[in-house]
Amino acid sequence: MAEQDCIFCSVVTGDVRAEIVFQDDRCIAFRDINPQAPVHVLIIPREHIESLDDAGRGDEPVLGHILRVAARVANDEGLTESGFRTVINTGAGAGQSVLHLHLHVLGGRPMHWPPG
Ligand code: 5GP
Ligand code: ZN
Repeated sequence: MAEQDCIFCSVVTGDVRAEIVFQDDRCIAFRDINPQAPVHVLIIPREHIESLDDAGRGDEPVLGHILRVAARVANDEGLTESGFRTVINTGAGAGQSVLHLHLHVLGGRPMHWPPG
C-alpha cells in the first residue's frame, strides 16, 4: 500500500485528526476511533511499516520503543495496577484492517484469555 493512501500516515502528517496521548520523534499514540475497552490506544511508528511481517532488522529499535511507550501510556492512563493488554494483529486473518503497523493498548476492563 502506498503511504499516501495510508490512514495512519495521514495521522502522522496531521491530515487526519486523532486524539493524541503521546508522541515523540519515532512514534505517535492516539485513541482508537472504535474503542474495544475503556482505554484503547494505538501506537504507531511514524515511519510506514505495513505489518510485523514486513518489519526488518533495522526496525528492531522502533519495535522495542513502541513496547516501552505502551507501558508508559498504560501508566499514564492509570492501568498500572489493573493491568493492560498489548496486541499487534498481523494479516487479515488475524484482524489487521489498517496496513500500517500498530500496537493496541487495551485496559480498564477484565481481559479474557484466549482472545477471540
Ligand atoms: P486492526 O484491526 O488493523 O488491528 O486495528 C485498526 C484499528 O484502527 C481499529 O481498532 C480501528 O478502530 C482503528 N482505526 C481505523 N481508522 C481509524 C482512524 O481514522 N482513527 C483512529 N483513531 N482509529 C482508527
Ligand atoms: Zn502508513
